[in-house]
Amino acid sequence: MSDIRTRFAPSPTGFLHVGGVRTALYAWLIARQGNGQFILRIEDTDKVREVEGSIKHIMDSLRFVGINWDEGPDIGGNFEPYKQSQRLETYKQWAQTLVDSGRAYPDPYTQEELNGLREKSKSEKKPFLFRDHRPEKFDKWDGKATLRFKSDPKPYTWHDEVLGKLSTGPEVVDDFIIMKSDGFPTYNFCHIIDDHLMKITHVVRSQEFISSTPKFLNLYEALEFNHPKFVTLPFVMGPDGKKKLSKRDGAKDILDYQKEGYDPRALMNFLATLGWNDGTTQEIFSEEELIEKFDISRINKSGASFDEQRLIWMNGHYIRSMSIEELYDKVRDYWPKSADNFDDVYKMKVLGLVQERLKFYSEIPSLTNFFFEDLEINESLIKDNKFLKNLSDQEINNLLQIVTKSLSGSDFSVEDLSNRLNSLLSETNKKPGELFSLIRIVSTWAPSSPPLAESLSVLGKKRTIDRISNYSI
Ligand code: GLU
Repeated sequence: MSDIRTRFAPSPTGFLHVGGVRTALYAWLIARQGNGQFILRIEDTDKVREVEGSIKHIMDSLRFVGINWDEGPDIGGNFEPYKQSQRLETYKQWAQTLVDSGRAYPDPYTQEELNGLREKSKSEKKPFLFRDHRPEKFDKWDGKATLRFKSDPKPYTWHDEVLGKLSTGPEVVDDFIIMKSDGFPTYNFCHIIDDHLMKITHVVRSQEFISSTPKFLNLYEALEFNHPKFVTLPFVMGPDGKKKLSKRDGAKDILDYQKEGYDPRALMNFLATLGWNDGTTQEIFSEEELIEKFDISRINKSGASFDEQRLIWMNGHYIRSMSIEELYDKVRDYWPKSADNFDDVYKMKVLGLVQERLKFYSEIPSLTNFFFEDLEINESLIKDNKFLKNLSDQEINNLLQIVTKSLSGSDFSVEDLSNRLNSLLSETNKKPGELFSLIRIVSTWAPSSPPLAESLSVLGKKRTIDRISNYSI
């Protein structure tokens, strides 16, 4: 085992979408690649924003994608507890250490007074800095009052593993709150304590924390901690690439992908390559390959656009690469109700016909329902079909009579059906677009179907001829 330790530190404020899981995945890949440890830490110090059930939801999401942790709230570890709300005493002690060394002080202002000071700066068109109003002398901390860090403003230049050299001036370093009056620490304070105590070597997180990094650096110094490596991930952008991905752009709950029937390997592959590539044009990576090839220095510096079509394509790739038995096993819960009356052999044949086109499992009912039930006759499929719309009812009827006659003599093997369908083209003097569309529509009443001879063969003679005759009479 190496000393590499990374963590994912979500706040339980709701579900995880692609951005969050990608952060977890990159942290996990760094740990796995370095033969290190990956830690799950729950940052539940903001009780107002907490959403019930989200810890379980977050864990389920990570597990679904295949991200496992070596230490965490459910499994413990050498540095437990891994839920910040259970570590309050630790934060209080470290806060006291800062008070003792003169680097933290109780906030002397009421909210109204603070608002007043802010207003004043605004009217004077000056940026508001709390430290400009820092009291000369501090009260002792009673362990309850809001506590502020006494900053030591200075310019900073630091190295980010993704973004490279970054610099800021002293104006961004201010006296920020470290302990709130409700007894909880702020994120700004306690994540630094935890990362230190948990011996985190790489802090992998999104770009939104970049502007706070100088404050953190100032606090690391005051605490006399070495800071971990910073691995800052640019935002996942919406499909237009212009702004951060939002729910409106389709940033959905990762567990929705599970419900819709996505293969976890596709999600892992998609998320890993959302802002990282191995320098070649390879797009499909197995978990082992990702662990081997992932490289912090190849994480994109600019935001990657979320393209759900790419995920759908990848998922289709994984579906096509499965054996039919494997796929059958995975789609067990996705069949339409009407499939209950059919046996495994039949359903497996149906699945074999749609495997090529299936993009995610929950498409199965709409792609296969006509194999299990007689769909309602839908004239618009004929009337709106570019090949069929000009045929008269009489013509359609005549064609279907000829088709029925020929199919009645078939054994419904794919080979015999193919031969007959081909002969019917010359017999009727129609193009495949016309004749086959017509047969396809009246035998399925579905907007699309797998290849015709194969579909009819699986449907069987009786149902095919019944359906055709049902319409032509
Ligand atoms: N609790 C923070 C969040 O959910 C974690 C940020 C970090 O990784 O330091 O955004």
